[in-house]
Amino acid sequence: MVYNEIMTRDWYSHLMVLENDVRVDQAAAPGEAEIGYQPGRLPVLLSAPHAARHIRAGQLKHGEPMTAGLARWVAEETGAHVLYLRRRTNGDPNSDFYSPYKQALRAAHTQTPFCFMVDVHGASDRHNFGLALGSMGGQSCARLLPEILAALAEQGFSPRGRGLLRVDLDEKFKGLGSPVRETLTRFAWHELHLPCLQVEIHAQLRDVQAQSELKRTAAALRALVLAAAAAAADCCSKSHGTTLK
Ligand SMILES: [Zn+2]
Repeated sequence: MVYNEIMTRDWYSHLMVLENDVRVDQAAAPGEAEIGYQPGRLPVLLSAPHAARHIRAGQLKHGEPMTAGLARWVAEETGAHVLYLRRRTNGDPNSDFYSPYKQALRAAHTQTPFCFMVDVHGASDRHNFGLALGSMGGQSCARLLPEILAALAEQGFSPRGRGLLRVDLDEKFKGLGSPVRETLTRFAWHELHLPCLQVEIHAQLRDVQAQSELKRTAAALRALVLAAAAAAADCCSKSHGTTLK
């Protein structure tokens, strides 16, 4: 398996160190950052906006475990940038039209333009997919989707896969939002003109106890980021003057 080549024996403990920067139930103490950002050298941003608890329509929602840990690990492996929610927040970055998280995304993109964003989320265990990709019905990353799907297929995930190996494409979670809800995918595409993809990960693929599933998920996300970066390089260098290093 490909992932065995890229993950050393202690990769899991390192993954947990990355994940444990998040305090899912705690608000930021004075002087603490609610949002984490680690710049990279690859013009791709991984985002984990629901890593900690958040509030949507007055309701306190659970955090999405391992989304920050996985996003941060893939960022380290690939050289991508990563943005994630470190502490409980009073709003929902994936719903509110105004949110500090969206402002942080805008500021980071303004400073170092990205070619592509992957917005990582955690779905519950009641879904019949392993990964659900949301591209606003193909709008938000039409040119990159074939390469992304090919890279995922190499890792065993495809629309024809079964159970946790099935990829849902723009059916269950489209990332579209609504007139009263602005997803980060919608914000990135409409406001920042940044190609992007929402990725929902089934709970069993990010189960903190299940090291083999975590490895499989990490490898798939890594492949997705590298494929998107390679495919985006052309258009990115034309529009932003950025080159892959
Ligand atoms: Zn989410």
